[in-house]
Amino acid sequence: MTGVYLTKPAKLLARLRTGLDVDTAQGLEVVLRLAEEEGRTLYLVGGGLRDLVLRRGQADIDLVGEGQVLSLAEKAATVLGGRWVEHRAFGTVTVEGKGFRLDLAMARAEKYARPGALPKVRPASIDEDLARRDFTINAMALALCGRERGQLLDPFGGMGDIAGGRLRVLHDRSFIDDATRILRAVRYETRFSFGIEEKTLALLKRDLAYLDTISGARVRHELLHLLAEDEPEKGFLRCQELGVLAAIHSALRFDDELAVAFRRARRAGRAAPQPEVYLGLLGTRLSPADAEAVTLRLALSKRQRQALEGAAALAQLLPWLSRADVHPSQVVERLEPFPLAAVEACALLTSRSAAREKLRHYLEKWRYVKASLDGRALERLGVVRGPGIRSVLRLLKAARVDGEASSREEEVELVRGVLTGKVEMPRAGGGEE
Ligand code: ATP
Repeated sequence: MTGVYLTKPAKLLARLRTGLDVDTAQGLEVVLRLAEEEGRTLYLVGGGLRDLVLRRGQADIDLVGEGQVLSLAEKAATVLGGRWVEHRAFGTVTVEGKGFRLDLAMARAEKYARPGALPKVRPASIDEDLARRDFTINAMALALCGRERGQLLDPFGGMGDIAGGRLRVLHDRSFIDDATRILRAVRYETRFSFGIEEKTLALLKRDLAYLDTISGARVRHELLHLLAEDEPEKGFLRCQELGVLAAIHSALRFDDELAVAFRRARRAGRAAPQPEVYLGLLGTRLSPADAEAVTLRLALSKRQRQALEGAAALAQLLPWLSRADVHPSQVVERLEPFPLAAVEACALLTSRSAAREKLRHYLEKWRYVKASLDGRALERLGVVRGPGIRSVLRLLKAARVDGEASSREEEVELVRGVLTGKVEMPRAGGGEE
């Protein structure tokens, strides 16, 4: 890591001022002025302060004050002509208006009734609020207004850890209380190219089994965050190495080939691949039964499930797809029921093989092919209305995909052949195996 020093708080204040866009700066100024009028101090905390130290561009502005912040948020929203949204369970309020969004939270302490449970929250001092956080680099506060303005609270040595590129938990039970921090550790480690400090790493390994105490929704939430990183494959390789994936579900795994496919996914045209494509790639390593179990473990949404399970099922078809005697029309028929994310995942995965060629052709060309003749045209040619029409349309589409008909006239010819019995209709299901 370069360019990180033990920055002086005054410099951080200046950096904050100059780094914000006009709308956010104005919103922040109003909130701070109103807080000052009430004689209160507001602190910049969490990722916003961490990223300011790291010079990572404008981050989320998370503000914490001791005591209720709702009325302050209301006033600010009124002055700014914006609105406020309360998230009661967490004692936080979002103030948002044209071009800005600020999060205000009441300083709080947390107590975990049991590992993995959502914590019981009570109003507390800023010091206690910092003590409930995940890592030292996220457990600092910079006073932005009031008598303490410019004061940096860094009770756990977060600045030193940022300078040293270290991730460190605040206490030995941290991962037991909340094992989602295991995934957060990997996310920050890979995003910032930090190292997990030795003792924290030992605790992380010791407490892997506590991932079991975390609900599917929360594990999924953290995994999706990991997938949203610039280079998610780094985090997944690290999870594999540390045994995190296996602790989430024994069948989940990640390897170098998947890492290459993840990178390929980003090069394949889109700036950020849908998380479903990444999930599909993970699915290619699972048996259909395991894919179902992983879906349950992660409480996946319908689209996510379809991508993961679809890719697991499609991966089973790869040997068939690589056969030379498989026609394009058979490929189309077989792949059409699969979600595109699953097909894309398999196409990214298989190296230069015949199967990959077919998957790419399907994605880029074959799935768009249509016959020129439609149902009405077929009726005019004498095909009897009813299921027969659908079969003939399928035949025409197959002929187009396979290059056996390349014009409307050739399609008409084929239909005449069917009507006179010269052309045989394909059996339902394609009969490819
Ligand atoms: P990112 O840049 O990834 O959004 P962030 O630090 O802003 O990082 P959030 O998930 O928005 O992350 O959380 C905001 C802050 O809340 C964190 O910086 C951390 O101090 C605290 N926090 C979040 N999740 C946890 C957790 N599971 N345990 C303890 N503290 C947490």
